[in-house]
Amino acid sequence: MGKLTNFKRSLWVFHASGGSCNACDIEIIAALTPRYDVERFGIKLVGSPRHADVLLVTGAIPRDFADKLRRIYEQMPEPKAVVVVGNCGTTGGVFYDSYNIAGPIDEIIPVDVYVPGCPPRPEAIIDGVVKAWLKLEKLEKELEGKKE
Ligand code: SF4
Repeated sequence: MGKLTNFKRSLWVFHASGGSCNACDIEIIAALTPRYDVERFGIKLVGSPRHADVLLVTGAIPRDFADKLRRIYEQMPEPKAVVVVGNCGTTGGVFYDSYNIAGPIDEIIPVDVYVPGCPPRPEAIIDGVVKAWLKLEKLEKELEGKKE
């Protein structure tokens, strides 16, 4: 795991579920429960993409959700990062090549980190969020460099 140095605030995360069976989503919630308790590191779920640094997406994304997902992404302020949780969002998973699926997610919005698994364990999801955090630190340094 890389060293977190520069991102000066807590990491706020928005969770969007598009066509997930809910198992990936439950593992995300498990990462927040007392056993893992990511809030002690400042990683917190928020209710609006306008407040979020990281977008966690689950599910294979049905066609009628694709535009909504684009809008969620566009509402997030810069710098931002996207983490796909689970095989459905990463490749289509069990829904691969299905007529009513718009995913995989990287065909709809840019993706920074993939967390494979069906579902992935909370440890893997936390590792994915930390990778997104490292990317945000890099982007923040680049933005600061442009301001100077
Ligand atoms: S990857 Fe597996 S657990 Fe996650 S939403 Fe798809 S089917 Fe469900």
